[in-house]
Amino acid sequence: MNLNINELEDYFINIGEKKYKALQVFEWLYIHKERDIDLFSNLKKEIRDTLKKDFVLDFIKIKKREVGKNVKKYLFTLNDGNYVEAVLMVHNYGISVCVSSQVGCNMGCKFCESGRLKKVRNLETYEMVEQILLIEEDIGQKIQSVVVMGIGEPFDNYDNVVNFIKIINHAKGLAIGARHITVSTCGIVPKIIEFSNLPIQVNLALSLHAPNDELRTKIMPINKMYSISKVMEAIKTYIEKTNRRVTIEYVMLNMVNDSLDEAKQLANLLRGMNVYVNLIPYNETNNNGFKKSSRVNEFKEALLKMEINVTVRKEFGDSISAACGQLRSKEV
Ligand code: SAH
Repeated sequence: MNLNINELEDYFINIGEKKYKALQVFEWLYIHKERDIDLFSNLKKEIRDTLKKDFVLDFIKIKKREVGKNVKKYLFTLNDGNYVEAVLMVHNYGISVCVSSQVGCNMGCKFCESGRLKKVRNLETYEMVEQILLIEEDIGQKIQSVVVMGIGEPFDNYDNVVNFIKIINHAKGLAIGARHITVSTCGIVPKIIEFSNLPIQVNLALSLHAPNDELRTKIMPINKMYSISKVMEAIKTYIEKTNRRVTIEYVMLNMVNDSLDEAKQLANLLRGMNVYVNLIPYNETNNNGFKKSSRVNEFKEALLKMEINVTVRKEFGDSISAACGQLRSKEV
């Protein structure tokens, strides 16, 4: 089901029923994980029949699991035969899942494997929710945090991603706290602004990856449409409106964006902003020419000296191609 709670309440009002029935349906779907409408036992038969007439509950299926250290990669089959992947990570603070938002991706970042297949379509809301539901079922445990950092550009599928957030955040949905939900974007400016008005306080991460337009355009074609100054302006607006700290992701590419001069440019760009930099060790993928930087620590130390908050992303799942930028919409 793709509806968030308000939409489902409206639906019940429209069919002449009480709106609290929406909460009951949410409980069945997301708390009891019941897939058969006939078994929604606190709804009378007449309502169940109407529900069955108005909604086809579609599901996705786990096609394959691969297990690494503290990490599990899931390949899902969608109803139309497409594939996406999601990754479960076990941290010392809990379990998180990285979900995909599209089949393929059109952003064309030169270093990323996920974009090798151009966007086939957006994921429906339920297809994102199901990635989490199926993983929870598979491991018999609740997921504590969610990052929308799998295949796809979430802000190129904005409405469905927002609905997904509303559902997983809802107390009768998956009850995942807003502060435990992070959306990462390559910098779609109008959507960053729109996102700043979302009443749910989720985290935002920006894939910046370069401190100047010349370099960023080379590795991230989206920069031609939204230059660094435009993106940073949108991020400033977002911070002003939400009062939330934004994560700046910076993938460390050997001899491409990892010099001390680039660290200085990055510090100048970010100085005074409520952000922190998350350096991502590069996960090498099919000979695209990019290599893992050997200067992650120097770069980090340089930023620290310039009083920029910085962390290095923990490496997960490289051995099973489940790391950042390695997920694919393919079976093999
Ligand atoms: N499209 C969104 C969501 C993807 S998030 C975005 O661009 O933010 C995945 C993160 O991993 C992004 O920051 C992406 O740039 C980064 N990434 C892509 N390929 C990578 C790779 N091979 N190694 C490490 N990080 C990579």
